[in-house]
Amino acid sequence: MKQSVKLIAGNWKMNGLGADLAEAQALAAALNDQPAACRVAICPPATLVDRLSQTVAGGSVEVGGQDCHAETSGAFTGSVSGMMLADAGAVLVIIGHSERRAGLGETDADVAAKVEAALAAGLEPIICVGETLDQRQAGDAVAVVSAQIAGSLPASLSGKPFAIAYEPVWAIGTGLTPTLEQIEEVHAAVRAAMVARLGEGGRVAPILYGGSVKPSNAAEILAAAEVGGALVGGASLKADDFLGIIRAL
Ligand code: PEP
Repeated sequence: MKQSVKLIAGNWKMNGLGADLAEAQALAAALNDQPAACRVAICPPATLVDRLSQTVAGGSVEVGGQDCHAETSGAFTGSVSGMMLADAGAVLVIIGHSERRAGLGETDADVAAKVEAALAAGLEPIICVGETLDQRQAGDAVAVVSAQIAGSLPASLSGKPFAIAYEPVWAIGTGLTPTLEQIEEVHAAVRAAMVARLGEGGRVAPILYGGSVKPSNAAEILAAAEVGGALVGGASLKADDFLGIIRAL
């Protein structure tokens, strides 16, 4: 079965004001001059999805949200639905980022429900999994991540466009990265868990690596077995840094 095109997605987290749209504009212009060898996306905070979509309209940069509610609408003060993100121009949405799993108590079942909502809104979910440092040091990384895949992927995902992001929690925003062997070991386990959950439909979606990816380490990480792209936090905020990662492919 043919694998999907690689995807490099930037997660701006709770960073970005109107003035920062200039970075997205600079990125879009650079990719217009010299197209990327992969899909490129920016996931800004919800307040910027609409304006960023307009800023990059007509170019190759895709726009994503960082989370969506499991319901379409209703009395959920402060939340954003998948349909709202799609209406604002998003085509992707990050679901189950560790900052939400650990910080806000999102469970695998919550993540699966949000993935269903994203699909219903026509969005392509980027589903995040990853072990903590304690879990890695206990030798449980593969078991933890495999269980997250089994619990976070609804059966309805089979045949739909989506991506997985393997993000070791201890590598996010810390400057630490796993060895290439560790990345390849977990990516292979993620693929096996995807196939176990979805059958042949689990062979297609790209498995992104995330956690302190920067221009200086991107080439070797992106060349590793089963690495289908990257989810990039801090280094996606500036067009030059993000381009350095994109051009490493
Ligand atoms: C992330 O937040 O998904 C991430 C990978 O962050 P960073 O690249 O800053 O480690």
